[in-house]
Order: sequence, then C-alpha cells, then structure tokens
Amino acid sequence: MSLTLRVDGPRWRAHLESVAEATPGLVPVAKGNGYGFTNARLARRAQWLAERGHDVRTLAVGTYLELPDVAQRWSGDLLVLTPWRPWVPLPEPEVARRLVHTVSRAEDLRLLLDADPRARVVLERMTSMRRHGMSARELWEAGDVLRRHPGARVEGLALHLPLGQGNHLGEVSRLVNDYVAADIAGHHPPAVWVSHLSREELDTLRSQYGDFTFRPRSGTGLWLGDRGALRVTATVLDVHPVERGDAFGYRGRTAPKSGHVLVVSGGTAHGIGLEAPTGEQSIKARATTLAKGGLDAVGFVRSPYAIDGKQRLFAEPPHMQASMLFLPAGSRVPEVGEDVDVRVRFTTTAFDRVVFSD
Ligand SMILES: *Cc1c(COP(=O)(O)O)cnc(C)c1O
Repeated sequence: MSLTLRVDGPRWRAHLESVAEATPGLVPVAKGNGYGFTNARLARRAQWLAERGHDVRTLAVGTYLELPDVAQRWSGDLLVLTPWRPWVPLPEPEVARRLVHTVSRAEDLRLLLDADPRARVVLERMTSMRRHGMSARELWEAGDVLRRHPGARVEGLALHLPLGQGNHLGEVSRLVNDYVAADIAGHHPPAVWVSHLSREELDTLRSQYGDFTFRPRSGTGLWLGDRGALRVTATVLDVHPVERGDAFGYRGRTAPKSGHVLVVSGGTAHGIGLEAPTGEQSIKARATTLAKGGLDAVGFVRSPYAIDGKQRLFAEPPHMQASMLFLPAGSRVPEVGEDVDVRVRFTTTAFDRVVFSD
C-alpha cells in the first residue's frame, strides 16, 4: 500500500565498500531526505563502513538541524556543510566536541571563536560555484583571526566545486595556493575537503600536493552510485474498466477511449509527478510536452509509473497519496496488490518504506 524503495542489500553494501576502498579519506554526506534512505540509516551505514576498517572518519550533514538524526548513530566527527552564521546556536558539549563547522566569512569566524574559542572549523574558499566561501583576501584575514585564537582547531580548506569532469585541477591548485599564502596555522597535515572530483583528479592532486590530505565528500556517487541495486515500487490499489466517454477523477474528465483506470500508491505527498498536468498547461506548453513525447494523442501526461516496462500515462494529476493512471485497451491489466515500477528522483522522493533484501 505504499511507495517503497527496495534495496538489494548485499549488492548495495558491496558498492559502498568498493567506493570507500577506492576513496581514502571519504566523507559520506547524509542530508535532506537521506538520498531516499533517511539520514539516520545513512549514519548507521557510515558507522558500519568505519567499523569495517575503511578510512571514514567524518560524516557530513547539510544543516545544523540534521545533527540530532545522526549524532547518536555515528560515533566519529561531524561536519556541517552549510556555513555557520551568527544566528545558529551552538550544540551541546557532547556534539560540539565532534563537530566541525564550515566557516565561509571572516566575520563569522571572529564571532564563532568569540562564542566557542575551541571550535573546530574548515575554512571555505569561494569556487566557480559562487555559492559560499571567502575570497583570497578574506582567507588572509581569517589567518589573522586564527593567530589571535590559538585554541581554535582548523581542520583544513573546504572547496565546493561544480559538477563536471576533468577540468577542476587548475581551479583547485589556485585555491589551495591561496590557502597556503594565507598562512593558516592549522592541523597537520592540512586537509582539503572537496566535492565532485574524479578519481583521476584526486590522484593528480595527491601527487601534486604531497603535504596535504584530500577528503572527498560524496553523497550521490556513494549512496546512489549503483542504481542496479535499487528499485522503487508502488502498489496497484484498484482497477476500473472504462468505456470511451465514462467520467472519472476529481475533475469529471471522460475517458477518450476504452481501457482501464488504475489507482496506484504514491502521490504529491511522496513528491510524485510535480510537473504541471495537462489541464493546467497552456496550449504552447502542451505542444512542447507533446513534441518531447510526454503527452499522448489524447492529452494525458506521461507518469513515472511503468507497467511491463512501459511508462504509463496519468489519467489525472496525482492525488496526495495515490495516483490514477490510464491504461488503454489491449495492454495487460495488472491485478490489485501487484507491484509496479516507478522512476523517481531519489533525492526528492519521500518513500513510505525502505526494504532491504539479504
Ligand atoms: C551535497 C553536498 C555534497 C555531496 O554532493 P553529491 O553530489 O550528492 O555527492 C558535497 N559537498 C557539499 C558542500 C554539498 O552540499
């Protein structure tokens, strides 16, 4: 009766171990909906990786509010990826001791160290992403602030790089050189915390900067990197035969031809089908969708539900927890209780259940 993420347990765990094995210093990221798994589950899995002997010492979360979900399930260090701001309260001592703040403005560093002179921090340098981070000059100011706070612990430089392959090296070298020039009295060896670098780029950087350690943060590639281990299913809740002209749904729409209306689990509450449905689209938008193959000749929008390997059409916009599909006459009609496949984005879907096979 639910939208379920089904995980081939042995295959998924083997993938996690192969990533951890190939990625020394790996920093698993657990944030948002936990990439579909929940952050609590990812924290336990990170703990498992560490206990299996992999070089996983820090778990990253997206925000301070996500810390309680992971802090008891993971015993190592915790990194918050969203930079600290002056209105963010500092956590209780047990968590504070393990916590590494991301600091992206020299002013925030001053205020944070006033509030907690022993805070652990990574200094974020602005990248071509232009999201958060200090300029070279601000990094230099941060060096000054740190010389006045000898109790602070600098865990390194953080860089958030755009997605893309093969061309980050020049940028990373330039930014690491800024860090060196700022003369930050930090942890030894200094660490560079990075995202979205390929294995080859990391190898090159490790050989170029032998006196630095590199700590690659990874979420998607780690948790979702082996799609073949994951399957999403919904349940067929009801099946109704319809003739051309029969009315159905909230809007009293009529069937354009004979077939079946299927009610399946999964709706807007799960993040299903947020694209504008046909009824609400302008003629132009509808023509565009039609041109892209999203709309069939009778005006239904393609849904993420697949039956017998074929993506099916929404009979009307998804409801809160269920969706209505139209199945034209001639297709095999699934039975009530049958599972059907759903193609969703894992990071935007709220699953009712995550089920592991073993
Ligand atoms: C989310 C995030 C990551 C992980 O990104 P993925 O693409 O899921 O691997 C790394 N670094 C930062 C700063 C992030 O916000």
